[in-house]
Amino acid sequence: MACMKDHIEERPVTLCEIVRPDGTRARELRVFCPRHSQSMALETCRACPRLAELRDDASGSPACVLCAPGTAGTADPADVAVGALISGQISAVRNDVPEHAIRALFVKHSLSLVVVVDHDHKVVGVVAEGDLIHRGFKSGQAAECADEIMRPALSIREETPIRTALLQMATSRVRHAPVITAAGELIGTLIDVVGLRWLRGDGARG
Ligand code: SF4
Repeated sequence: MACMKDHIEERPVTLCEIVRPDGTRARELRVFCPRHSQSMALETCRACPRLAELRDDASGSPACVLCAPGTAGTADPADVAVGALISGQISAVRNDVPEHAIRALFVKHSLSLVVVVDHDHKVVGVVAEGDLIHRGFKSGQAAECADEIMRPALSIREETPIRTALLQMATSRVRHAPVITAAGELIGTLIDVVGLRWLRGDGARG
């Protein structure tokens, strides 16, 4: 357990839900670890000697960890890793999920973008709300799967400083980008305004 005199930090637990073609969902709980500058499976935190407490939300789901990572932190907010800004839940689809299931996800969660992953949960593309509108959002005739309607994604590695990430997004004219591990697995998405708010000092996570 963490020593009481260590600096204790609160780190949010993120949830990535991946919809499979049969409608079931794979669930991955992660915590961005400042000590390792990468996200860790929640099970790794549970076994970590630096963990002080794991807190649940009102529904009993893991919400955050309190731990003593033993790092000094970053003085300049622009140098903070993108992964540290990710919080909450993201829903993604596997690339063989049918189009009607993607449209249902957009409606259920009021999304503007859905990330598409392969069987190893690595990001392979995105489907934007505008793409579906363009295809005829109300059409019940759609038969294609995510693989056939997605577009390439600008993915941001989780350890990338927020300043660099925002520059990459601006250069690519992207306002909403998947955030991935070194292995290419999805951990969340970054919206440019969330990053800009962070730089302004609001401290809000995405
Ligand atoms: S509990 Fe351990 S592995 Fe998890 S974020 Fe804290 S220092 Fe990192």
